[in-house]
Amino acid sequence: GDLFGAQRRNSVGLNLSDPEVLQQLQQELAAMWGQTWQAAPLIAGQQIRGEPHPVYSPHDQHSLVGEVVFSSANDIEQALQQATRAFDDWRLCPVASRAGYLLKAADLLEQQRLELVALCIREGGRTVRDALAEVREAVDLCRYYAACAVEQFAQPLHLPGPTGEDNQLFHFGRGVFVCISPWNFPIALFIGQIAAALVAGNTAIAKPALQTSLTAMACLRLLHSAGIPEQVLQFLPGDGAEIGRHLLSDERVAGVAFTGSSATAHLINRQLAERDSAIASLIAETGGQNVMIADSSAHQEQLVADAIQSAFNSAGQRCSALRVLFLPEAIADSVIARLIGAMRLLRVGSPLDIATDVGPIIDQRALAALHQHIEKLEHDAKLLYQLPLTDDLTNGCFFPPTLAEIPALSFLDHEVFGPILHIVRYPANELAKVVEAINASGYGLTLGIHSRINANMRYIQEHAQVGNIYINRNMIGAVVGVQPFGGMGLSGTGPKAGGPHYLQRFANEQTLTTNL
Ligand code: GLU
Repeated sequence: GDLFGAQRRNSVGLNLSDPEVLQQLQQELAAMWGQTWQAAPLIAGQQIRGEPHPVYSPHDQHSLVGEVVFSSANDIEQALQQATRAFDDWRLCPVASRAGYLLKAADLLEQQRLELVALCIREGGRTVRDALAEVREAVDLCRYYAACAVEQFAQPLHLPGPTGEDNQLFHFGRGVFVCISPWNFPIALFIGQIAAALVAGNTAIAKPALQTSLTAMACLRLLHSAGIPEQVLQFLPGDGAEIGRHLLSDERVAGVAFTGSSATAHLINRQLAERDSAIASLIAETGGQNVMIADSSAHQEQLVADAIQSAFNSAGQRCSALRVLFLPEAIADSVIARLIGAMRLLRVGSPLDIATDVGPIIDQRALAALHQHIEKLEHDAKLLYQLPLTDDLTNGCFFPPTLAEIPALSFLDHEVFGPILHIVRYPANELAKVVEAINASGYGLTLGIHSRINANMRYIQEHAQVGNIYINRNMIGAVVGVQPFGGMGLSGTGPKAGGPHYLQRFANEQTLTTNL
């Protein structure tokens, strides 16, 4: 079909403004709150037994969500053997068949969305709206990559040549791809990486974030039930450092798709580089130090609404989230007052409650890092506001939405992954210096602009080395096939997820020249 035009439609999801839809959803989800789930290594479809580790909800650390069995060195070896053996057949499996499995998976995701939504709310602390949006994104990624594969890989590209010569360019999978996914989008990013790797003709070994192993296992079962052969997709839950050490040093690994922190991406890169075998393809989507720049022409109400959403949605646990808002002196006090007013209206609470705006932080370690950052802000900067938390949240990993003022972007020496928005004031005539500071941070993921001055918008767009720029709107929630997503520099290697060139990096190209 028409991949980029009017014919391709993203998934519509549920209409939560319809009271009947909402009530039914709440009832169905409530029925799943007491359920528990299991995750374990899955090698060629065989579920491996082992010592189970309990998994608790981030919003209530007494609430057991299920158990996970970690992968052993032997499981890793078996997964590598199976994935390597399965590659020969899979690489020659017609592209249309591989794409067909993804289309089937997309349909199953829409049909079985409730279990995944319930799981990722309880295990991942995602709000109901975030969880629903994530299933939609997973559906879109499956359908989009299926369409891209058929359009780009099913037929060789014919290239011109002298008379008597025929030139064609083919695409084949690279081999065994390791897919290492994060906990912040445990459905969409887990499935997106796997979908891309498989449809491009690779076999895949999925290593999900430890914090969301149960959600990953449910997604994996769904992919297998869509017809993806068991040998082609292996599953290795467990501790990342442990599994990475065994897996990434192995010469059978042809490529890695990773989404997570910049520090882990560096580690993976080093592990792959130490091998003597063929150089592996590494696709890394990492962190950001994302800025929104307002100039004095900004529409203040819209700016505040967009900043609040960008900074606090998903409790700030998005790599696209806004971290630093640059305000010109002339409007800074007024915008800060409005921001505090809007923050007071945010509802921090259990993600089981549909009215919650800001859910929990993923775990105690992440929470401790945020508290440590607050100490630094209290010491060396200025805390402007923290929303008081209600008393019923003491069993969970909750952190209050926070507003602080810092002297410069360089004050932040690492990505602060949570609901903390920093303000930097700048002299209105120093826009160029703001852009310089963004580039100097080394990160380059998302950037927001609030302005009504075309020359300012153009200047920022042309000079800022960032992957995704949003003008006069929020800066999160990139849409598949519409806003290809991903950064540069410390923020990632490219290609952009949900974009037309993503699959290329998962494939080998072969040129065939025939003398006729
Ligand atoms: N694609 C998501 C967005 O645009 C962010 C993905 C991530 O946090 O890894 O908000």
